[in-house]
Amino acid sequence: MSKLSPHFDSSEFVCGCCGKSIKMSDLLIERLEKMHTLMAAKAIYVNSGYRCNNNPWGSPIDAHRKGMAADIRVQRKDGSYYTAEDIAEAAERVGFKGIGIMEPDSCHVDTRGDEPYIYDWWHGNETTGVDWTKDSGHTFIRGTVFDGERNPAPSEEHTKDELLQELKALYEKYS
Ligand SMILES: [Zn+2]
Ligand SMILES: [Zn+2]
Repeated sequence: MSKLSPHFDSSEFVCGCCGKSIKMSDLLIERLEKMHTLMAAKAIYVNSGYRCNNNPWGSPIDAHRKGMAADIRVQRKDGSYYTAEDIAEAAERVGFKGIGIMEPDSCHVDTRGDEPYIYDWWHGNETTGVDWTKDSGHTFIRGTVFDGERNPAPSEEHTKDELLQELKALYEKYS
């Protein structure tokens, strides 16, 4: 098992039925990292990543079988979980075109539209069966301000702190 990115390891994406894996899409991992930052996540949990052909979950042609999909839950720094709708919104904002809500707090994301798949766009609700395939104008974006946008980046704070220290040193030197 190996590290795919700062917050994801290949072991998190193995098939639930047999433990096998294939190379996961780089774009999938890149976008999951973007979501991690945007949502200021404590952790993104992968409920299901790769599914082999014997795995009974999902359709025989679903994007999980190609290593380009993940069903995820996103935990906030305070330990609580974002809703499925929140995850769908963040997923759309980082560029995912395959998004399926799984009530109450999980969401399917896949890289269709940017990587080869039979359909290029899908918004759905896997719990209620609602499918917006014919409504290409559908959006999950409701203008939520996520924690990752609200809080200043730690590096910025550090820089301000350093600046203050330098000013103090200068003040002491010349006063
Ligand atoms: Zn399997
Ligand atoms: Zn899925």
